[in-house]
Amino acid sequence: MAYSYSAISSFENCPLQFKLAYIDRVTPLRKNIEGFLGIRVHETLEKLYRDKLYEKHNSLEELLSFYNERWEREMCSTIFVTKDYDVENYRKMGERYITDYYERYKPFDEGKTIALEKKVFFPLNETHWIAGVIDRITEVNDTYEVHDYKTSLYFPTKKDVENDCQLSLYALALDYLYGVKNIELVWHFLAFDREIRLRKESYESAREELLKKIETIEKAKAHNEFPPKESSLCPYCSYQPICPLFRHMHELEEMSAEEMVRDKGFSLVNEYAQLSEKINELKHRKEMLGQRIAEWARENGVHYVYGSDKIANVKVYHNIQFTQKETVEHLLKREGLYEKYARLDAIKLAESFKNRNLPPQIMKALQELTEEKEVVRIYLRNAKREE
Ligand code: SF4
Repeated sequence: MAYSYSAISSFENCPLQFKLAYIDRVTPLRKNIEGFLGIRVHETLEKLYRDKLYEKHNSLEELLSFYNERWEREMCSTIFVTKDYDVENYRKMGERYITDYYERYKPFDEGKTIALEKKVFFPLNETHWIAGVIDRITEVNDTYEVHDYKTSLYFPTKKDVENDCQLSLYALALDYLYGVKNIELVWHFLAFDREIRLRKESYESAREELLKKIETIEKAKAHNEFPPKESSLCPYCSYQPICPLFRHMHELEEMSAEEMVRDKGFSLVNEYAQLSEKINELKHRKEMLGQRIAEWARENGVHYVYGSDKIANVKVYHNIQFTQKETVEHLLKREGLYEKYARLDAIKLAESFKNRNLPPQIMKALQELTEEKEVVRIYLRNAKREE
């Protein structure tokens, strides 16, 4: 399989999303408006430069009318909006991005356009190939520029830009395809009407970085381990309706109120939540009662307080807590007493064992000393619909 930058970042965001999109090739069930907006703006800017190659110069009005026509034609019911804005807000955002870009760069004669929406395919090493699409390649005074349009509302830090592998990867592609070394990376953050440039002597570090990432994906493939990873990106995910974390929510949304009440999972969770609330309340009441019994025992100078069937044995402990753990550890180690008081961190060890992050000889030895038990824990949290 050839990897693309978007496939690699999809795996980093969520292994399950990667599997659904790039291994199982499931057709996206819905598309977020941000992605839709991005495509419409990209194709409009492509038109601007492609027409120019044919000596056709677009006015801003012509470009905006192309953008709006494409918007109308491609809009469909599977496009969804997650925030408290509507489709019209996004359409206008796109218009603003194009207008700002147009005003900033007109008459668009900086350099020679070498390629638009250029598909690249090149080897990262003898095993792995990379496929991608470069928005625009321009030649300016013996330098090849890789231009990338960003429509997201996130403005990157200096560190984000320096560590970004995507355009560095495209720089490697240009070196492979055209044999050029003078390459500059140019990001257009359209929402902010800002351009960021970066030029490096060599982009080879991106190759190493990506090979490491690909190795992690290959490992996941070998063990068929693609767990869902919940994050702030979930609301935008095209596969949310079939993701095990959100499928039930989508199923409930399709039901009538009566059907919902009859849904087994729905009623079990409601019962569990009510019970948990009662238990918490009872726990709190029990704690308060305990304090009152202790106070009463102290005031009356007794240790045992008698009820009809039970006796309350009142004990007061004074627990010692160490405030500076590291200093205490250091002290015990220095005095040769650490082993006596330190305990094995079984949770951390089990985690490393599960993730096969231990030396093979230890893995082998531990294999005979472990048993797997299924533990069920339910964590309740407030149900949140799409953010
Ligand atoms: S909804 Fe979230 S957890 Fe589920 S597949 Fe998509 S990104 Fe992964």
